[in-house]
Amino acid sequence: MAALSKSIPHNCYEIGHTWHPSCRVSFLQITGGALEESLKIYAPLYLIAAILRKRKLDYYLHKLLPEILQSASFLTANGALYMAFFCILRKCFVCGLERSCSDGFCFVELLWNLL
Ligand SMILES: [Zn+2]
Repeated sequence: MAALSKSIPHNCYEIGHTWHPSCRVSFLQITGGALEESLKIYAPLYLIAAILRKRKLDYYLHKLLPEILQSASFLTANGALYMAFFCILRKCFVCGLERSCSDGFCFVELLWNLL
């Protein structure tokens, strides 16, 4: 296990989120950015599709917003969970394996400490 941790000499700040040293802050920034960009993508896309399909007023009032939010939340979760698990797995392999990862509690502890 020590050989595995020594083969990866960089922390996640150096190779994952180079704009901020904190994993939590980087996770929140990625989540906010992903949400903003996904809304910019899906809101016009669903609106144009609804106009081209000549949807009725009922669709715009009751279905358009939930569909936009569903797609935007999926894309946001994709970006946010990528960064979260990058840091979690990085910490588990670099730090956790040197301690006591075999009992299964280190993953929960690392997740708790990260978030
Ligand atoms: Zn990190």
